[in-house]
Amino acid sequence: MLSISEKLSQIHHRIECAVSQYQKNQQVRLLCVSKTKPVEAIEEAYLQGERHFGESYAVEASEKIEELRKKGYNDICWHFIGPIQKNKTKLIAEHFDIVESVDREIVVERLSEQRPSNMKPLEVLIEVNISGEEQKSGCLPEKAEQIASKVASKPNLRIKGLMGVAKDTADETEIKQSFKKLEALFEKLKRTYPEINTLSMGMTHDLEEAIECGSTEVRIGTAIFGAREYKQGRTDTSVAFIGGGNMSSCIFESVIKSMSPRNITVSGPHLEKLEHFKVSGASITTDNVQAVQKSKIVFLGVKPQMLTAVLQELADAKIDFEEKLVISMAAGYPLKSIEKFLNSSRVVRIMPNTPAKIGEGVTAVTFDKGCADPDKELVRLFLKGMGTVCEGNERQLNVIGAVAGCGPAFVYRFMEALIAESVRHGLDEKDSRSMVEQLFKGTADMVINNQQQSIASLREAVTSKGGTTFAGLTKMSEGGFEDMMQKVIQASLDRTAEFESMF
Ligand SMILES: *Cc1c(COP(=O)(O)O)cnc(C)c1O
Repeated sequence: MLSISEKLSQIHHRIECAVSQYQKNQQVRLLCVSKTKPVEAIEEAYLQGERHFGESYAVEASEKIEELRKKGYNDICWHFIGPIQKNKTKLIAEHFDIVESVDREIVVERLSEQRPSNMKPLEVLIEVNISGEEQKSGCLPEKAEQIASKVASKPNLRIKGLMGVAKDTADETEIKQSFKKLEALFEKLKRTYPEINTLSMGMTHDLEEAIECGSTEVRIGTAIFGAREYKQGRTDTSVAFIGGGNMSSCIFESVIKSMSPRNITVSGPHLEKLEHFKVSGASITTDNVQAVQKSKIVFLGVKPQMLTAVLQELADAKIDFEEKLVISMAAGYPLKSIEKFLNSSRVVRIMPNTPAKIGEGVTAVTFDKGCADPDKELVRLFLKGMGTVCEGNERQLNVIGAVAGCGPAFVYRFMEALIAESVRHGLDEKDSRSMVEQLFKGTADMVINNQQQSIASLREAVTSKGGTTFAGLTKMSEGGFEDMMQKVIQASLDRTAEFESMF
């Protein structure tokens, strides 16, 4: 294994190559992202000449910063790059030199008030959500200027630039598109605030694309310090799954990517059906109450028709739910009904769809009012392994359920029909299936890879007037395709409403 100093030389080499390849003459600063890593690792990088370090967790970072100051490392420039919880702004204001993840005005207010007067002004970068993923941190691009002007109005703060994280994808074009968006915003902002000089973008896997698009600072963790193992503590909390069916199994697989299965108990009426959880390292039991009592996080993974009985059992056992986060996957079972039984509003409803099993799902999430930021973070972390997470209110959850939850079945039906027609016209069954598989995959990629184009315009690009596609599409219209889809989604929503009125 390479040492930290060898990895640092490699990363400096990657940066130099990118700078010369793209003929950028600006200096690109290396920010060493040391979150979750011990102070010894920071010392090692320091001894190689590194002075800029980035941290994401306020409490962990403050402890490390104080320890290193005591050891005499007084010329490190500390950058805070993680999501900012309101109750952590004081720690950040008191320990850091630069905050890169400011994304809302309340945080600006608090940082400004809490910056100690004997420290030099805190430098601020606005984090902009450039990946278009709703659940990611960062402000909307159109909000950046407003936040920047707020920062500029504070004597304790200095506006220095922008930070952004591209989507974690292998698609270079998409990555560059989002970086270019940020660069354009950066250039615009520079005209108003000439003191702005930092465009922080690029991480281990996309630093070349970032430099090509004008980055002045890359934030590198993994390539310097190795993969991060999340400290126990952050996720070292005990988890119970009530019910061990398909969806529980799927979420379990995702959860054990961020915590040890030894902290998990799965409960269900038939032990033999829970055997595979035991093989993975979890405890199993038939006693729901006991499983819930010893856990801080409770997944309710039973069918909606069964949930009332389970909730009643937990209510009868007089368990105190104040200290517990409850996550229900029962479709159509309203938050307020769960609240009533548990006397708690620290409740989350989630609805994954079946592609979640292969990490390509859409999971709808809605948080009840009792959920604090750390609860939300944890839920996002737990669900990340299953694909995209869509957050919304409870009504939106039902819509996501009808479209994305039922959707795989609608799409399968469409695929089946196309295969059946190919076979009817003389293709072999197996060939028809491969053809249709690639058709759906390729079409989805065309949509995903061409965000600037509407789907209608992609469709028009394959439809010449009077041609074969045109003839087919005309039949779809005559057959009332849109009207039918409207009825399909409405029927799913109506059924959801019926379920909701039952519980
Ligand atoms: C963790 C983190 C990084 C470092 O990512 P690597 O892929 O390990 O280089 C960079 N930026 C932000 C905002 C991070 O949270």
